[in-house]
Amino acid sequence: MSYLSTDRVEHHFHDVVIIGSGGAGMRCALQLADAGHRVAVISKVLPTRSHTVAAQGGINASLGNVLSDHWLWHMYDTVKGSDYLGDQDAIEYMCRAAPLLVRELEHQGVPFSRLDDGRIYQRPFGGQSREFGEGGQAARTCAAADRTGHAILHTLYQQNLRAGTHFYQEYFALDLITDDEGCHGVLAWDIAAGAYHLFQAKAVVLATGGAGRIFKVTTNAHICTGDGGALVLDAGLPLEDMEFFQFHPTGIAHVGPLITEGVRGEGGYLINAEGERFMERYAPTAKDLASRDVVSRAIAQEVREGRGCGPDKDYVLLKLDHLGADLIMSRLPNIHELALRFAGVDCTKEPIPVQPTAHYTMGGIPTNRHGEVVTLDAQGEERVVPGLYAIGEAACVSVHGANRLGGNSLLEIIVFGRACGNRVMKWLTAHRYHTQLPADCWQPGVARVERWLTKSGGTGQRIAEVRRAMQEIMQTHFSVYRTHEVMAEGVRKLEALSDALAAAQIEDRARQFNTELIEALELENLMALARVTAACALARTESRGAHARDDYPERDDEHWLKHTLATLTEEGVELRYKPVRLRPMTVPTFPPKKRVY
Ligand SMILES: Cc1cc2nc3c(=O)[nH]c(=O)nc-3n(C[C@H](O)[C@H](O)[C@H](O)COP(=O)(O)OP(=O)(O)OC[C@H]3O[C@@H](n4cnc5c(N)ncnc54)[C@H](O)[C@@H]3O)c2cc1C
Repeated sequence: MSYLSTDRVEHHFHDVVIIGSGGAGMRCALQLADAGHRVAVISKVLPTRSHTVAAQGGINASLGNVLSDHWLWHMYDTVKGSDYLGDQDAIEYMCRAAPLLVRELEHQGVPFSRLDDGRIYQRPFGGQSREFGEGGQAARTCAAADRTGHAILHTLYQQNLRAGTHFYQEYFALDLITDDEGCHGVLAWDIAAGAYHLFQAKAVVLATGGAGRIFKVTTNAHICTGDGGALVLDAGLPLEDMEFFQFHPTGIAHVGPLITEGVRGEGGYLINAEGERFMERYAPTAKDLASRDVVSRAIAQEVREGRGCGPDKDYVLLKLDHLGADLIMSRLPNIHELALRFAGVDCTKEPIPVQPTAHYTMGGIPTNRHGEVVTLDAQGEERVVPGLYAIGEAACVSVHGANRLGGNSLLEIIVFGRACGNRVMKWLTAHRYHTQLPADCWQPGVARVERWLTKSGGTGQRIAEVRRAMQEIMQTHFSVYRTHEVMAEGVRKLEALSDALAAAQIEDRARQFNTELIEALELENLMALARVTAACALARTESRGAHARDDYPERDDEHWLKHTLATLTEEGVELRYKPVRLRPMTVPTFPPKKRVY
């Protein structure tokens, strides 16, 4: 009885509730708060600790400050980079909006690095070209040294404080309040006080970031546990394209922290144990600045063929000492510090040991380019879920398709954060009142927590053990190269492990600041996403972008030029498919062709 009575659940009423205070949530909140709406942002950590703060290399826009550029070239590169799985209407929208919105960020206070004439500094990044691949490398990535995400997140936070956004920090979202009419709010847990809060709203925006922690070695922060995706699965809605997980070529070997692509943009390059600059063989034109899937596979191939470095021959080296200490300390100071701290290497003198590392969740909550969450009805037609929105890494718009280009994610969070804000405003003009909620709507969320806090007896495993086992399975069975046999075994192991999670226990039963409880809730979310990722990957019998199969080495447009949609039911993962949107908004389609760099 106790926790299921109304007086134990505090009610809050807002026009809009945004879950997540990364760049996506903050940009969306700013759009709405500036227009006078009552906006709540819920975050499980202090707002400025969101993973956006860790973004290093920069944000793409065809400003043409260093080399000539055009948004259509940016669009072409993004479509090609996505291995033609990206939706071209959304990609056009993003690339066209980029220059305006990056200048807007500058005016809002982002301290971008400068050229001598005062304009924003731009560096070359992977997969960037001019004149549709005919004009050589582009320099499209706007950078604030190698701390671009930090600069953007702090600026947006300050702007939100000015605009009067309400922040609920260290609140953990437990359950979406949904019915046949759509989404009406969210139940959250105040981590510090150990209390339930029901946030009722006319619109709910999920901006919960990626799920890199399903893997063992990742660049992602510990908080990147795919919570938004799990909330959506729990509401019976699908996730899109989860088989596409980006492995960044240059994580610090064995530990994972990211060494930005900006290092290669500034002139750094990869070498194998023989000292050979091997990317010249794999991508004769773009070399070390080929797209990430290509470079990650090349590294994995070098290691497979015995040309890896170190005692286990399992990594390669990123050489940048030839750039000189002055350039490194002004343009890449954070990299210098990371290499020193995590690899014990002074990169002004020695190369950094690197290996492909789980980095970015290309899939996510399916949305259209306005940020509205979409699903398929029984007839297979796409329909909008009323009142529910998703943006940022949690969402799948899809602008990244099967492989994201570096610098396009910070762009995505700004472009679609704003676009979603505008769409929500339109919704609010037509929906001026809160809906009447069923009296017991918070019970499933409450039950989720109480189950952990009251469970006793049994010999369940510890949360940390189950998590380690899950990450190990994902790392071994769903890595850079995949085959049916290895993945099928992974799927079996995961299903067994998810039973172990149901029987697992926590030791700490306190309500206040119970971090073990939070880890248990996060692991439930991770497990759901890992199961979906595994099932989607096993089903896709082709190689496309980040999904590379030894047993199906070719891309198969005839059968697989389509998005996967996965739901989680009692019976397990169910898969459906929907077509790629090949038609842009105003320009002709970039038709699929073979991808070479
Ligand atoms: C190391 C690193 C470097 C990167 N560098 C670049 C780069 O240079 N350029 C680029 O374009 N991209 C880069 N990326 C990718 C990019 O930074 C991210 O994709 C992007 O910042 C994600 O922003 P977001 O707002 O969607 O989510 P995040 O910034 O991850 O924020 C998620 C928010 O959701 C909240 N949240 C999650 N679950 C819950 C819950 N259950 N309850 C309450 N709150 C919750 C969190 O507290 C957080 O506030 C990098 C990524 C990493 C990991």
